[in-house]
Amino acid sequence: MQSEIKLTILGSTGTIGENTLDVVSRHASCQVIALTANTQVEKLYQQCLQFQPRYVAVADEAAASLLAEKLQHTAPEIIVLSGVAGLETVAALDEVNTVMAAIVGAAGLLPTLAAARAGKKILLANKEALVMSGHLFMEEVRHNKATLLPIDSEHNAIFQCMPEHYADGLQQVGVNKILLTASGGPFRTKALSELKNVTPAQAVAHPNWVMGQKISVDSATMMNKGLEVIEACWLFNTTVDMIEVVIHPQSIIHSMVSYKDGSVLAQLGNPDMRTPIAHAMAWPERIESGVEPLDFFEVANFEFEKPDMQRFACLRLAYEAMKSGGTATTILNAANEVAVDAFLKERIGFLDIPQIIESSLNHLNIEPATSLDQVLKADQQARLHAEEEVLRNHRTN
Ligand code: NDP
Ligand code: MG
Repeated sequence: MQSEIKLTILGSTGTIGENTLDVVSRHASCQVIALTANTQVEKLYQQCLQFQPRYVAVADEAAASLLAEKLQHTAPEIIVLSGVAGLETVAALDEVNTVMAAIVGAAGLLPTLAAARAGKKILLANKEALVMSGHLFMEEVRHNKATLLPIDSEHNAIFQCMPEHYADGLQQVGVNKILLTASGGPFRTKALSELKNVTPAQAVAHPNWVMGQKISVDSATMMNKGLEVIEACWLFNTTVDMIEVVIHPQSIIHSMVSYKDGSVLAQLGNPDMRTPIAHAMAWPERIESGVEPLDFFEVANFEFEKPDMQRFACLRLAYEAMKSGGTATTILNAANEVAVDAFLKERIGFLDIPQIIESSLNHLNIEPATSLDQVLKADQQARLHAEEEVLRNHRTN
């Protein structure tokens, strides 16, 4: 890499965080300035010893104190910060030029916004930030001349297949459609009658990718693809009718761009997040990621199918929310986070997830999402409503 990367990793103890550190460890020109987590003190401590950041920020106050105590004996020079303010501080440090946004869920919004306001190069994994507040977030990026590069494998693939000036408008540059691929998750072929009783363990067992629990459940409901449709609209400045979801169970084609002359450009590779991470970190250059080259003779077959919107009601809800606009996608995201958490704790069943989201979208007022206050208020209201629905479902199950 020609220029030095000075990195803050928001969510370094997660799956994306660990994959990022793996890529970092392969490149001397990449320096970790700050790491962050929520509660996983021991893992964060080990990362501090290995990568020697200048700062570490822990969202949970008690976990921050524990970490500070441990570091006092072994690495007292590392500055420990805490709470959301601590996360925002390390996302905006002067000595940092690149921020990996890999906190899961709405918790990632404020620190990722802080990185945008500070004009950083943002490697965006935290799709929920865009789903919650796409308009505001993109405004901050533009206004502060931040650079936004997608880490989500599909969006990274689309980015790689886009012409240089796609921001001028997809039609202008000859794009006909974005083809967003999806694996279909672990329940693609399961009998509909059996979905009611699937367990969290079955839902998080993704066939192709190793991921955190929340995104794994989102993949099983296909809400992940729904969030990605919304994410793609914001990243590529387009509307939902330009985005078609294509189920491709092998997860080798990571997405495609179809052009008006009939050409379709695709990005392929083994399903390993280190490829999009390395791509975005080094862009516009290319660096080693540690990922095995793709062996076409081993893959042998590519399959494609249309998603079944009845089986995957969450995907339908996401399309509808994006069409509604305003705070609809904020509500969708918040209700989904509450429902997924309740499902993981076995408080509700798998099929209650789309029901709770639909109820939240039907009951709450959808307003323009023009200020952060409006977005945070919609997020709060949706969480309260979804939690009431969880309690109701729990009692009736
Ligand atoms: P994980 O659950 O593995 O990791 C989440 C990270 O966020 C952890 O570091 C966790 O800290 C931290 N975190 C959780 N809650 C909070 C909070 N309240 N405040 C501050 N930090 C918090 O998730 P993934 O790595 O799988 O996913 C991260 C993001 O990347 C998600 O938005 C996901 O959609 C996206 N993504 C992930 C992909 C993947 O392959 N995993 C692919 C594409 C996108 P702690 O460990 O202490 O709990
Ligand atoms: Mg993805």
